[in-house]
Amino acid sequence: MNEQLKQEVASRKTFAIISHPDAGKTTITEQLLLFGGAIRQAGTVKGKKTGKFAKSDWMEIEKQRGISVTSSVMQFDYADKRVNILDTPGHEDFSEDTYRTLMAVDSAVMVIDSAKGIEPQTKKLFKVCRMRGIPIFTFINKLDRDGKEPLDLLAELEEVLEIDSYPMNWPIGMGKGLLGLYDNFHQRIEVHRPDEHGGERYVPLNDAGEIEGPHVLKESTLYDQALEDILLLTEAGNEFSEERIANGELTPVFFGSALTNFGVQTFLDTYLQFAPSPSAHKDEDGEKISPYTEEFSGFIFKIQANMDPAHRDRIAFVRICSGIFERGIDVTLSRTKKKMRLSNSTQFMAESRESVEHAVAGDIIGLYDTGNFQIGDTIFQGKMNVDYEKLPQFTPEMFMRVNAKNVMKQKSFHKGVNQLVQEGAIQLYKTFHTEDYILGAVGQLQFEVFQHRMLNEYNAEVVMTPMGNKIARWIKPEDLDESMSSSRNLLVRDRHDQPLFLFENQFAMRWFSDKYPDVELSALL
Ligand code: GDP
Repeated sequence: MNEQLKQEVASRKTFAIISHPDAGKTTITEQLLLFGGAIRQAGTVKGKKTGKFAKSDWMEIEKQRGISVTSSVMQFDYADKRVNILDTPGHEDFSEDTYRTLMAVDSAVMVIDSAKGIEPQTKKLFKVCRMRGIPIFTFINKLDRDGKEPLDLLAELEEVLEIDSYPMNWPIGMGKGLLGLYDNFHQRIEVHRPDEHGGERYVPLNDAGEIEGPHVLKESTLYDQALEDILLLTEAGNEFSEERIANGELTPVFFGSALTNFGVQTFLDTYLQFAPSPSAHKDEDGEKISPYTEEFSGFIFKIQANMDPAHRDRIAFVRICSGIFERGIDVTLSRTKKKMRLSNSTQFMAESRESVEHAVAGDIIGLYDTGNFQIGDTIFQGKMNVDYEKLPQFTPEMFMRVNAKNVMKQKSFHKGVNQLVQEGAIQLYKTFHTEDYILGAVGQLQFEVFQHRMLNEYNAEVVMTPMGNKIARWIKPEDLDESMSSSRNLLVRDRHDQPLFLFENQFAMRWFSDKYPDVELSALL
């Protein structure tokens, strides 16, 4: 095996940070980038003061909404590792892109606000990570504020997310009373404000797990409380198991405060020790392709258009699954068997995009796309002839009726809708008989991006009429009787002509199941 490739791939750590909005994802990302030397100043990530992008249409939406639409990729080197962080928009208006990004990572970091516990968005994103069986590491944030009891937070992980947990460290106090972290794993206490306690940042623990001799920390009842909790966890908690972490069955839990940069470096160091390097990806037949295979291959998990309005460009984000990418290599697009040369590629840094010359399995590269690629496409070098497994589809929750504003522009309207649907930007349904167009999305933002792109790329102004939230459930064609449809369960077809109902609410769905007990309804992921 190519020794250099082996070393390079093994040094890759590619992960996404998932959280509910405001849990502190941006703040912790910035701290990580600071450790990696990728940015020099906190505030860079959210500030988005990069003049290069400022004029883009895409960023217009961001500016108007004050949120981050782009799920960008940030790369830095730290402790002999090359770290790729894939950003998943934390805003409530997230989209299918957010989910698909999780298809391109090897592990996930789940950030939780200690005062709020598990929030809805975290739960949804967690579900996707769970489905993939990737390791999930938990960072419980905002320890500098009063939050829920640490034991209650662990219980919540187990009850709400149904994942076992193992605390890697444990808070001694919180909020104004935060004294430090009892660091089980490193057998030390990480002191919150070292200056007030005589200067040392770490206080070692003896074999009994206590501070040897007298120490100011020992004078606090919070120290005793922490020891008591730890004892309880040792007796009744889960055992540490690398294997269970790797299988995504056990989540190591770290506490800290991203804002005051407390516990973040400990987290990063320990995380990189246990986080997996790129693993084998499955092809269409379930066969695993080793990342150490010398020929290059990868799949497209995201396409983003209009990053630069001057060029009307689209960028296809590729997760490299095997081998080495070098600028100018020749590849085949699996779907069409078309051959192409990858000469125009880019990689992503926190503050800039630059041309990428060399990347390996685990890395993410961006390819300038002139309309060749679709989401889920595989590209490969030489005779590999691989087709990576299909990206999962996610059940839309929000629906809109959509029409062309100007009837004279029907042609561009249909062209735009079909292309955007093919690209995976949004889902399309048609009502039975009348063939009305209904769009489905997992987040509001997808509709806005759709509308914006229809106008800018296809010159088609659209009228969208919200239908609100619905529960989409597919029904087997052989079970279908059109009289089953009513105003509370609208019957539509998806783009593969499969029938499904859009239920008004849970109540309507239960009513349906009671009435037709033999009819099986199914959701996507
Ligand atoms: P995101 O939406 O998950 O990216 O969250 P942000 O990183 O933007 O943080 C949301 C808010 O919480 C901001 O006002 C942050 O300053 C604040 N915040 C983040 N981490 C901490 C923390 O550790 N402690 C406190 N007190 N506030 C924090």
